Parts: sequence; C-alpha cells; structure tokens
Amino acid sequence: MRAAKAAGLDVLGLTDHDTTEAWEPAVRTAQDVGITLVRGIEISTRHLGRGVHLLAYLPDPTYPPLLAHLRKILDGRSSRVPAIIDRLNELGIDVHIADVRRAADGTAATGRPHIADALVALGVVPDRSTAFREYLNPGRPAYVNRYAAPLVETMRVVDEAGGVSVLAHPWGRHGPDSLPAEAIAELAGLGLTGLEVDHQDHPPEDRQRLREIAESLSLVVTGSSDHHGLGKYDHELGCNTTAPNQYERLLELAAAAGLRSGRVTPTPV
Ligand SMILES: [Zn+2]
Repeated sequence: MRAAKAAGLDVLGLTDHDTTEAWEPAVRTAQDVGITLVRGIEISTRHLGRGVHLLAYLPDPTYPPLLAHLRKILDGRSSRVPAIIDRLNELGIDVHIADVRRAADGTAATGRPHIADALVALGVVPDRSTAFREYLNPGRPAYVNRYAAPLVETMRVVDEAGGVSVLAHPWGRHGPDSLPAEAIAELAGLGLTGLEVDHQDHPPEDRQRLREIAESLSLVVTGSSDHHGLGKYDHELGCNTTAPNQYERLLELAAAAGLRSGRVTPTPV
C-alpha cells in the first residue's frame, strides 16, 4: 500500500492468487496511507486445455462455494510444491521445503514463485525469471501440473458471490491463438465483465487488438502492473493503469452483481 502510494497511484487493486488473506491488513494500511483499495482475487483456472488467470473483483469472500473453490486450488498448490522439490532434488539441486517456506514468508498460497525465490537465495540461479525459464515453466525439468478450477464454473461462482470477472493477461502466456476473439465473445456471453488489456506481457499490437475486441463486446478494459513484489522485474507499480471511466464502469457492474447476488460484498475503501 505504501509503495503504491509512493508510486503516485490513487486507486489500487489487490488480487493475491487464490486467497483473500491479505485483505484485512491491506484495508487498514490503505486507510492509513490514504489510497483507495479495490479488493479482489486472482484465481487459477483452466480453459480450453490451458491455464487462465481470472481476476475476481469485489466478491463476498465468505461465500461458501467460493471458499471451497479457493481451498481446492490452494490444496493443489501446496501438494505441488513437494513434488517440484522432489524433481529438483533428482536434478541434483539441494533445496528443501524449509527453504521454500522461508522464501514464502508465511503466505497462504505457496507456489512456484517461492520455489524460485528459494533457488535464488541458495545461489542456484541469479533471479526468479531464470528459475522459471530453466526449471519451473511447462516443459522444463521441474515442472509439475496441478489442479486449476474450470474457468466458466469459476466465473459463475464469482457472480454468485456478487463479484465481477476480468480475464487477467488473456494473451500474456500463450499468445492470441490460445484465446481467439470468438472464445472471448463466448465468455462475454457467459457473464465475463472485462479484459486486462494493458499488461506487460502484451506487446502494443496485442493491446490494440484486445482493446477492439473488448469494445465490440462492451467489456471493461483494465490495465495493471501485475506487481509481485521485488522478485519480478518490469512489473513496477503503476506501469499500467485502468482509465477512470473504465474503473467507474467496473464499479457499477460490481455493484449490480452485488445486488443481484444478495450477498454482502466489499466496496472500495
Ligand atoms: Zn496472472
């Protein structure tokens, strides 16, 4: 919150992966430093055979089916970590679960970034992206698949929880062919609210094309830093932002979803 304020942001979205644990302390600090906080979750889902990240903004975090969903994903995450450690040990790298726990610093969602940080701390690789490139990405020797929730089902649960769904970096990992315009249109028909267009993994031509697709489908256009702390480079806070009119639309649609759901949903604070 303090770094976001220092970066000159007036509104910040907090969307930790598959958990709302940080919401409470973040609300307190946001109020302390005087920044508006929009609470959300980035949910690990699967669609058309690939991993898709879904940003759920302003859902009721106590909605039981949403909690059950997140629990299942978190369980998949933690059982994956020992499997990856085994692979790394087989490759002759002396890394232990305690190293990963130390790197994770008590977070609920232990995962590959923390394994990467542990490898950096042990001097195996110089930085987090090298750890992913050499060991942890799909197709690399220490990659292990894990559970991800079906995307459409997750969108439905988010809607029932009174939140709105935005596709995170839709072309960031696998390029435009992985999720063509028709597939996005289908998701829009199923209740998708927006597309994260401005993201560091999207080159200018992809942003332009995604913006056109979003406009043709009346989807909200968002932009985010996808800031992951100090370990992930080129994702500085504020490097991409959401236009004020798009932010207002997102809030209106979230308010409508909140009313429809009958749940008690968070508002920006
Ligand atoms: Zn993501």
